[in-house]
Amino acid sequence: MTDLMEAVTSLAKRRGIAFQSAEIYGGLRSSWDYGPLGVELRRNIRNAWWRATVQLRDDIVGVEAAIVTSPRVWQASGHLETFHDPLVECTNCHQRFRQDDLEANADGVVLCPNCGGAEFTEPKQFNLMLKTFLGPIEDDDAVAYLRPETAQGMFVNFPAVQTVSRKKLPFGIAQIGKSFRNEITPGNFIFRTREFEQMEMEFFVEPGTDDEWFEYWVDQRLQWYLDLGVSKDKLRLRSHDPEELAHYAKAATDVEYEFPFGWQELEGIANRTDFDLDAHQSASGEDLTYFDQEKDARYLPYVVEPAVGVDRALLAFLLDAYRVEEAPTAKGGTDKRTVLGLHRDLAPIKVAVLPLSRNEKLVPEARRVHDVVKPEWISQYDDAGAIGRRYRRQDEVGTPFCVTVDFESLDDHEVTVRERDTMQQDRVPIDNLVSYLRDRL
Ligand code: ATP
Repeated sequence: MTDLMEAVTSLAKRRGIAFQSAEIYGGLRSSWDYGPLGVELRRNIRNAWWRATVQLRDDIVGVEAAIVTSPRVWQASGHLETFHDPLVECTNCHQRFRQDDLEANADGVVLCPNCGGAEFTEPKQFNLMLKTFLGPIEDDDAVAYLRPETAQGMFVNFPAVQTVSRKKLPFGIAQIGKSFRNEITPGNFIFRTREFEQMEMEFFVEPGTDDEWFEYWVDQRLQWYLDLGVSKDKLRLRSHDPEELAHYAKAATDVEYEFPFGWQELEGIANRTDFDLDAHQSASGEDLTYFDQEKDARYLPYVVEPAVGVDRALLAFLLDAYRVEEAPTAKGGTDKRTVLGLHRDLAPIKVAVLPLSRNEKLVPEARRVHDVVKPEWISQYDDAGAIGRRYRRQDEVGTPFCVTVDFESLDDHEVTVRERDTMQQDRVPIDNLVSYLRDRL
């Protein structure tokens, strides 16, 4: 199964989805840069999430908070005190691990995954926040942190956003943005990195209704992946045991995906209670309560939070969409084709326009067709190489439709539209092309 991981990583590199950051300098462990197609794919993932979470609802609004904010936020939220992972070091090879990542073998002994040694140092609590200094003097007063989650931006802005949006409970505040964690063991391509992007939503509810809303959001979030075409049998829900819960949570359920390296958290849904609002209210001295007009009462809302990483979701979408299958060639034989069966909303390129060849009459006609499609969808014009190879190139990055301009097109003003999954071809008048594609995209 690691072959799948290798195949997808190599495809991602070859086709400009993601590659190692600063590769010319040998790269930096766990840092990845996204190329032209990766940028579009990420934008589509964000848009799909934002549309489902904010735009199609009238009870959720957005914010974009600063990445570097007052350190008092992290003091109050408990991150300075408790956002730790237990770090152990193998006494033989000196490699460091997260203690909770190490598994005992059949004899109940934990062996170093690197050298097989059986002795480790005592676990040291290692704070995951990335520290920096603001201004020219690097002293204690200048210490600041890169946020380890976007959520605190919603809590500290809760009264302001509630006032300006005039929302009544239950309502949510959503945010998409970068977070940073000094992970002890980053790895598995973009699965765990030190810099990543999160899509988080804090849903504020009346205490006592939180359990119900928690279930609601678990269902909604699982459905989001299914709606975007992720295989049902690769997804499952896993509730956290009480001892596993984060310092702020009363309950948590993960949406897990079966990655080639095992079932892993794709998204976490947590019932954060009033932990954060209460902590910020005490630390800041500001009133963060909500006035419930119907009940004529003031209280601190409870919070249900779905949180997922853009990068981790992207990896799951890529792995799930990747397939290699037999396909007929133009000459009647068979061939292998690699297809990214991405949902149309996620596909980085929606339409490719291809002249049958670089013929001097076909090229300008195909360019004209491309001009018709371009304002509507992210599209690509490609006239380099044999037509069969160009189809394969588009299949490999998940382009749902290829539009081919051939010699007949010059007379009948029709083009051939080929669908990615079925490879079925339809002849469509250029005048109807946009409406044809609109019905299908
Ligand atoms: P883990 O136990 O895997 O370290 P977590 O439970 O601490 O993760 P959360 O704090 O619940 O993670 O973060 C919410 C989501 O953000 C995760 O489900 C994941 O999709 C994403 N995420 C968290 N940490 C990372 C990371 N280091 N790299 C990429 N994505 C991450």
